[in-house]
Amino acid sequence: MTDKSFQPRYTLIDTHTHMCDPAFDPDLSAVLERAKDAGIAAVVAVSESLSDAKKNSELAAGHPLIRPAAGLYPTFLDLAHAQEMHQFIRNHIDTLVAIGEVGLDYWVVKEESGRELQREIFRGFVNLGKELNLPLNVHSRSAGRHAVAILLECSATRIQLHAFDGKPEAALPAVEAGFFFSIPPSVVRSRQKQKLVRRLPLSCFLLETDSPVLGPSPQERNEPANALISAKAIAELKGLQEAEVIEAISENTRRLYGDLIKSC
Ligand SMILES: [Zn+2]
Repeated sequence: MTDKSFQPRYTLIDTHTHMCDPAFDPDLSAVLERAKDAGIAAVVAVSESLSDAKKNSELAAGHPLIRPAAGLYPTFLDLAHAQEMHQFIRNHIDTLVAIGEVGLDYWVVKEESGRELQREIFRGFVNLGKELNLPLNVHSRSAGRHAVAILLECSATRIQLHAFDGKPEAALPAVEAGFFFSIPPSVVRSRQKQKLVRRLPLSCFLLETDSPVLGPSPQERNEPANALISAKAIAELKGLQEAEVIEAISENTRRLYGDLIKSC
């Protein structure tokens, strides 16, 4: 029988990072060491393109803390490129922990024809996630309501809305559907994110950093060790003990990323 008494009761994961970003090339090992010291058991590395996905898979092979996800950033409006990404995901199903990041970006894409294509590509990834039973790591800039509508229409189940920038009212149907919302450290300086945290239930939150961006200060490179800043902010905004928030987030993470947690 193994003695589990020394294991922590919780497992925290930074559920959305860009570890393949060149900003981390010079000192990735040190960055991951700091994350580990801060209590982060795994770092989900999302991809914006095929080259990102390949780099993340390589990084994961050399750094056990990194868990790769593959997806196409919503501003790539190219069906052939999306199909190539589908194939990459199918070929790497054994090592990928999620599909992402995928979604909608109406802040960059303003033309209706471009948005229609974006929705079509997004639906393709939602259905692939359902087919392969992989969590979907969703980007939804200036399109929160629209992304949620597509996810509901497709009866998606394993969903993480990352850095959601919509109103709480747009998020509530997603909460009801059992979707999760990952909160970046920029919550300490974003009134919109603070509003979201106050209104949504603790049972839907995950930690993310979106490193190297969305840090507590916009000028500095963000890194996974900062994920705990989000937990602290959620505790303060909700008037709860930090330990209670960490335990709840750990349980939420297990609900969405169960297999990943088991392997930590
Ligand atoms: Zn991102």
